[in-house]
Amino acid sequence: MNPDLLPLLKQAFGYSEFRDGQLPVIEAALQGRDSFVLMPTGGGKSLCYQLPALLLPHVTIVVSPLMSLMKDQVDALKANGIAAEFVNSSLSREQVLQVFTQLRRGELKLLYVAPERLLQPQFIERLLDVGVSLFAIDEAHCISQWGHDFRPDYMALALIRQRFPAVPVMALTATADGATRQDILQQLALQQAYIHLGSFDRPNIRYTVQEKFRPVEQLVSYLQQQEGASGIVYCGSRRKVDELSSQLAQRGFSVAGYHAGLSNEERNSIQDAFKRDDYQLIVATVAFGMGVNKSNIRYVVHFELPRTIEAYYQETGRAGRDGVAAEAMLLFDPADIAKMKRWLDAEENQQRAEVTWQRFLAMAAFAEAQTCRRLVLLNYFGEARQTRCGNCDTCLQPPQQFDGTELAQKALSCVYRVGQSFGMHHVIDVLRGGQNQRISELGHDKLSTWGLGKDLSHDYWLSILRQLIHFGLLQQDITAHSVLKLQPAAKPVLRGETLLSLAVPRLQSS
Ligand code: ADP
Ligand code: ZN
Repeated sequence: MNPDLLPLLKQAFGYSEFRDGQLPVIEAALQGRDSFVLMPTGGGKSLCYQLPALLLPHVTIVVSPLMSLMKDQVDALKANGIAAEFVNSSLSREQVLQVFTQLRRGELKLLYVAPERLLQPQFIERLLDVGVSLFAIDEAHCISQWGHDFRPDYMALALIRQRFPAVPVMALTATADGATRQDILQQLALQQAYIHLGSFDRPNIRYTVQEKFRPVEQLVSYLQQQEGASGIVYCGSRRKVDELSSQLAQRGFSVAGYHAGLSNEERNSIQDAFKRDDYQLIVATVAFGMGVNKSNIRYVVHFELPRTIEAYYQETGRAGRDGVAAEAMLLFDPADIAKMKRWLDAEENQQRAEVTWQRFLAMAAFAEAQTCRRLVLLNYFGEARQTRCGNCDTCLQPPQQFDGTELAQKALSCVYRVGQSFGMHHVIDVLRGGQNQRISELGHDKLSTWGLGKDLSHDYWLSILRQLIHFGLLQQDITAHSVLKLQPAAKPVLRGETLLSLAVPRLQSS
């Protein structure tokens, strides 16, 4: 190990040891070698290029997609007495010129830029004039169309290799499955790169999934258990964010909604207020997060199913960055899977839709998993493990199985009796002996299955029906108002030829 590095780490950054993976990456950069750094959020990626930047002769260019993050990092570096600046569209022309003057005089150790800046020929010329020691590409997955956050501007980075063939490139990301990883290496043309694949495990985060029955009530009761701790609730759309945040505000929660439809000022002021703990929780779309540097977030709730495991992991990863116990809670409605399918079927670009669908299925499998959820996550990221974690809902309360044959027979024959022409809620109403106008008009209160299941709650039956769909005994016809139809696999169960093991529904919030 280079003996100069530890004192420098202490003196420049105030840390007394390197974190897992940092040192070899730093050494590779100092040797002029390309590198690929895969570290989970909070793992300490920035130091991997910030420290070598201090020792290398010329400037280090850091490419970052986020203005707020650039400013935070540059402020922190300057506070440590390190010559760093950024240029992006938030600066005035004069300010940009000032930074360029410093650059020309060789005064800067680090310069943060947005990717589109590297499309400007004049800027490239400037860099060629002064000489660059290292390019650090933060959020490198943005270059990949396989990734969950593709940004066309990042494609420009492939040019770096052509214009600066001798300058090492360090690509950093927190989210990359195998396909994205290969794509990054290829697009940036990294050569014999030093590769660091950090562990994705966040042992202090507990993963739990709740089946959705009355989502707002479930969320409220969950939040009430959090006793004022900080958290984020992610939703899939702006409309949902607005709706949910005002519902929660009415219930007395200290909450703000956050999405890309707000002005920059509004967004900044919400972020700052959250940092200061002026808000207990933020209801947000995916727009909230990349720049959030708050270490004591105790829980992240997903009110809707995220579209990919990468996005889920990234978003839940904002919890517990201080290493203290935190929770990631997903509210899951199996019907979201069918909704997604319908939505993708209407997509014009079917090739792209297929990619999206496959990635989404992996996310759905996580939500439906009956085994350790951490194993599902880590195996998805290519980190093979066999031991159950002991800190997720399925490890802590393994789903109980019971002989569900009789319940399944009741449900399946009810679907048959109503002519396979009704959706879940009507079937449940009939099973539970409901008496409403529709039921009596249809004569469904005369059916032999009417009231057969009145000893069980609506939500209980909902969970049973969902499992029958899951096992392929029933299908929701999404082309016809989601009516339930029997599938061939239902026959042997109806005839009593096979037994069916089902999971005991978890109805109350745990
Ligand atoms: P990432 O970019 O991987 O999400 P950061 O670079 O922002 O992570 O680092 C996360 C936190 O860890 C920061 O607060 C940073 O100061 C701290 N950190 C990084 N390296 C070390 C180290 N060697 N020792 C102690 N703290 C560190
Ligand atoms: Zn587990």
